[in-house]
Amino acid sequence: MNTTEAFVGLECTSCEEVFGVDTHGRCPDCGAPLDPAYDYDAVDIERADLEGRPHEGLWHFDALLPFPADAAITTAEGATPLVEAPRLASELDVGRVVIKDDGRNPTGTTLDRGFSVAMTAAKQQDAEDATIAAPGHGAQSLAAYAGRANVRHHSFVPSRSTFQNKAMTNVHGGDMRVVGGRFPDAVEAKAEQVLDGWLDLQEFTTPYRHEGAKTIAYELAAGLEWDVPDAVVVPTGTGEFLVGVEKGFRELRTLGLVDDVPRLFAAQPEGCAPIATAFERGLDAPEPWTNPDTVCGELEITDPAGGELALRALEATDGAAVAVADDDALQSAYSAARYEGIEMGVNPGVAAAGAWDLADEFGDDATVVLLNTEAGGKTADLLRSHLMGKGI
Ligand SMILES: [Zn+2]
Repeated sequence: MNTTEAFVGLECTSCEEVFGVDTHGRCPDCGAPLDPAYDYDAVDIERADLEGRPHEGLWHFDALLPFPADAAITTAEGATPLVEAPRLASELDVGRVVIKDDGRNPTGTTLDRGFSVAMTAAKQQDAEDATIAAPGHGAQSLAAYAGRANVRHHSFVPSRSTFQNKAMTNVHGGDMRVVGGRFPDAVEAKAEQVLDGWLDLQEFTTPYRHEGAKTIAYELAAGLEWDVPDAVVVPTGTGEFLVGVEKGFRELRTLGLVDDVPRLFAAQPEGCAPIATAFERGLDAPEPWTNPDTVCGELEITDPAGGELALRALEATDGAAVAVADDDALQSAYSAARYEGIEMGVNPGVAAAGAWDLADEFGDDATVVLLNTEAGGKTADLLRSHLMGKGI
């Protein structure tokens, strides 16, 4: 495999055994997720190397990724802008609110970061077929990157997945199976129908999706001119983005590029909040959520694969978790568009709504980052029907 100098292998997040870079899936010994590990002494990087918004996107940071940029399967994901939200800052009574607008990724979501790295790994491993189950966005993102890599792809999505996701997954080509019901039904269908030789790119089965998400932290640190924000609020379903952001900041601190890491906050919908509930109860791992009920389909993850790691990330950063009502998430996404001109889907609307509940935690001179994981157009129908429900 064509790997970077500092990448040393895949370390188990539970038993800490380090496995070779050609290992597939979770820990062969204990079944926990694997995490790419690096020899940070071999990383020769300075602040200036991470600055700017380079045309090659997140592969600009390849000294801290498993694979070199010239081997990447990429459509220039990452390098998304930071947008000031002064009106929201004033309403929340904090110093500054900055929206990390990851809706501007190639397929409109943060997931592109992880699929770029995971598909690069798949290509290096000579995979011919890749598979996932996804609420919707993941299928579209996988389809885009697999198409570019000329890898066959098989996605399992629930029938309630959005029209836009299903249409664009088809447009990118490949095999999409629509399963009656919700995300767990799609997970079950995948388990029954997966064939030998299909590479499983489910989050935290592949070690590379949260690895792609860590580049958000590099872009935040550099984009805020190394003034580490006080808080980052992350809409949380599987835990992929939260775990990635925590790792990215931890690496910057290890490398001496920042002195501290921000407090991380997980925001979930009330109708499916296993991580927030586990945090509230002081548990080490979430309990599976029964009877999920939320319009935030991307966050309707009843048994999050990264749940335990997400809770660890909250604890490591002195963070917290919050659960918000669907109506508040819809209203927050609407307000971002209406008053700040920023298009945000209902799923990241959960983070914006969560910021209201967390405002007392932040302090009145705090810099708060909201991670916009999804372009507004991805859930335009939901946002519009929210308005119509209000008679607008
Ligand atoms: Zn292990």
